[in-house]
Amino acid sequence: MEIKINLKERDIPRKWYNLAADLPTPMLPPLGPDGKPITPDMLAPVFPMNLIEQEVSTKRWIPIPGEILDILYRWRPAPLKRAVNLEKYLKTPAKIYYKDESISPPGSHKPNTAVPQARYNKQFGIKKITTETGAGQWGCALAFACKLIGLECKVYMVRISFDQKPFRKIMMQVWGANCVASPSNETNAGRKILAEMPDTPGSLGIAISEAIESAVTDPTGQTRYSLGSVLNHVLLHQTIIGLEAKKQLKLAGEKLPDVVIGCAGGGSNFAGLAFPFVADKINGANIKIIPVEPTACPKMTRGPFAYDFGDTACTTPLLAMYTLGHAFIPKPIHAGGLRYHGMAPLVCQGINEGLIEPKAYQQLQCYKSAMLWASTEGSICAPETSHAIAAVIDEAEKAREEGKEKVILFNYSGHGLMDLLGYDAFLSGKLTDYTLPQEEIDKYTEPLKNLPKAEVKKTGKW
Ligand SMILES: *Cc1c(COP(=O)(O)O)cnc(C)c1O
Repeated sequence: MEIKINLKERDIPRKWYNLAADLPTPMLPPLGPDGKPITPDMLAPVFPMNLIEQEVSTKRWIPIPGEILDILYRWRPAPLKRAVNLEKYLKTPAKIYYKDESISPPGSHKPNTAVPQARYNKQFGIKKITTETGAGQWGCALAFACKLIGLECKVYMVRISFDQKPFRKIMMQVWGANCVASPSNETNAGRKILAEMPDTPGSLGIAISEAIESAVTDPTGQTRYSLGSVLNHVLLHQTIIGLEAKKQLKLAGEKLPDVVIGCAGGGSNFAGLAFPFVADKINGANIKIIPVEPTACPKMTRGPFAYDFGDTACTTPLLAMYTLGHAFIPKPIHAGGLRYHGMAPLVCQGINEGLIEPKAYQQLQCYKSAMLWASTEGSICAPETSHAIAAVIDEAEKAREEGKEKVILFNYSGHGLMDLLGYDAFLSGKLTDYTLPQEEIDKYTEPLKNLPKAEVKKTGKW
């Protein structure tokens, strides 16, 4: 038995998988300010047209260009590993496999889309990309990709992280990006907020508004904006994870997994692993597919399915998704990547169909799971990833109680070596559990009633 299942470079997937081709009921379209479906040209000031084409595509397979594979080879194919030590500790008959996405140079799955996005922008004649970042994982991934591909990169980093978590800011600078604290003095959106609230810690919503503004106001027209999760083309690029995993499970002598798990902030690492298996489920396979969110930011398990904006300033198109409202301000839990108010529309339609079954976990259980992982498997996981591990442990214990040799597959989305302050807070007993009160959900989702209604459509098969 091998505990690391490696694919040959020549066996890397050459096409991305697009779930939009196989969804039994289609997604609701994004809407513009007039309440009518947006057209691709309306997105043209923000994204290059080659990425917009992927965003709206319903083709099942989309070829991965060779120039992109040439960069992905630096760390892909990523290994599939078997967590035998955790299995032993749990005395479970389940087999626990995981995709190790922590081995990319920036340390997470995010470069799987940063590289193609930078490449398509370059091909379209763009010179500079702007983006926002919270704790800094996405800013690092995009800075890394832009450096390798030869683009300028500007990152608006939420002020409180910029001040309190300097290491990822330094990583971005090593890769040549220009990283500024948001709100900044460089945009109208930033100046307006600073005039009203000079001491604000900033927010992802404000940083998104600044990054979009600085892209669309470049007088040369050679700047575009980039997003690290949520959108269809981002999830598409991440499917290389699940497609590799499928080949690797076969090499390990497995057919299909019984359970697939990923943590979910905007949905991209979960979808990247899970969507190729959602296709099997649509075709009759019996697989439990679980995205895991924090109880402090429970959009999938407790939010309404509604049309909502992607950002606080209401500049994006309206997306049909499970959401806590675009004005929602989550408690500062340490899994910075899981604090977004909405969820990728493709994942949401999978939930509506019953193909995908979300769960929420408390912070302390997640850190305890991360500690157990470090003491059995050895590696220190990202706080986001600990949510997936908590659910894996539950499923492995259930398999023990049922006496079933289940195959559990999960996404090890990143390492936690830049997130040690969260571990420090846990070890010194400063962290607490938190369940978002219903009044908060009601307060932040009330304004959505004035937006177009999103109807839940499903076949009822699952
Ligand atoms: C950003 C991040 C996430 C959450 O983002 P998704 O788009 O939901 O995948 C999860 N894990 C890690 C390590 C991250 O950096």
